[in-house]
Amino acid sequence: MEKNHMETIAYFDASHDMPEEVIAAAGFAPYKILGDVRASNDPADRYLPAFFCPAARSIMTEALARSGQWAGIVVAQGCNATNRHYDVWKRHVPTPFLHWFNTPLKDDDAAVRFMKSELWRLMDAIQRHFDVLVTGEMLARANQESNRLKERLRVFAGLRAEKDMTNREYLSVMIKSMTLPKAEAIREIDAAIDTISNRGPFPGDKVKVLLTGSDVTYPELMDQIDEAGFRVVRDDLSLGERYFANRISESGDPVECLARYYLSIPKPATKVGLRQRLAYLEGALAQSGIKAVISQNLKFCEPYAYDAVLVNNALKSRGYRVLHVEREYTAAPDNPLATRLAAFAEMG
Ligand code: SF4
Repeated sequence: MEKNHMETIAYFDASHDMPEEVIAAAGFAPYKILGDVRASNDPADRYLPAFFCPAARSIMTEALARSGQWAGIVVAQGCNATNRHYDVWKRHVPTPFLHWFNTPLKDDDAAVRFMKSELWRLMDAIQRHFDVLVTGEMLARANQESNRLKERLRVFAGLRAEKDMTNREYLSVMIKSMTLPKAEAIREIDAAIDTISNRGPFPGDKVKVLLTGSDVTYPELMDQIDEAGFRVVRDDLSLGERYFANRISESGDPVECLARYYLSIPKPATKVGLRQRLAYLEGALAQSGIKAVISQNLKFCEPYAYDAVLVNNALKSRGYRVLHVEREYTAAPDNPLATRLAAFAEMG
């Protein structure tokens, strides 16, 4: 039985770990829970210690407030936050359907087999709980729609280096891509491509940078980078290039294609693959001619704090200018961040 109405299945993943295509194939709208930096984390803080990643606490706050509007929730294995949260959410977030999607840390043949078995387990859980059918054909269609969206995002993101597009505008389209039903998101991206294509050229008073590190989930941080004189024209963020850099193969078994796709995307710090992560960053810098890198980690985000030392030293040794900052989770101006950005700008 194919669903004829669009309910939401929300998900929490630390990077681009959750195969949204399975949710879409089952007739639901996938929704990436991002939290709200402007809302107090008090609701989640009843269950989580204050030294836990604040973005993840904000995500739980949103889930506590909104889970009644969602048909279910999937938590996908990413960092320690996602792993520990699943156990806490099981007890405290009311939802009729809560599923743990495990993902491999590596990307070898055993990892592909593991990922495929997790995809089958997710499809089975959704089919049983919601009494829907997810066929290979339906999954193939969802993969194609996902590719259409990613193709448009590549066009949109390519305009960053040519046109006067603010950092906020880029992030807001990325957020829409992961929170709206996909057909609606595609319309929004197309509208944004039209708008930005008619803008003036890249402003002469801005410096092109690559942004890496913890995921940026709120536009105020992008504004701060803009105000300091930097335009993000490349990145390897999950609400960024990691989401659209690669395409899903459309030939062969759609489950296998999906498994291989998720293991081939630009590596986050939460997976084994520092060399691949570095290779993506170096490739992006070489292609774009960018000489400056802004690397940041959110306070208490250990994966990116650890990775930053190795990644940034490697980039510096190749002649790139690299700023690393640890930032707060706040919509208010982050003054230490502003000072570091201003000093980086002065260094030219
Ligand atoms: S910001 Fe870091 S610690 Fe927080 S959810 Fe993302 S990867 Fe995990």
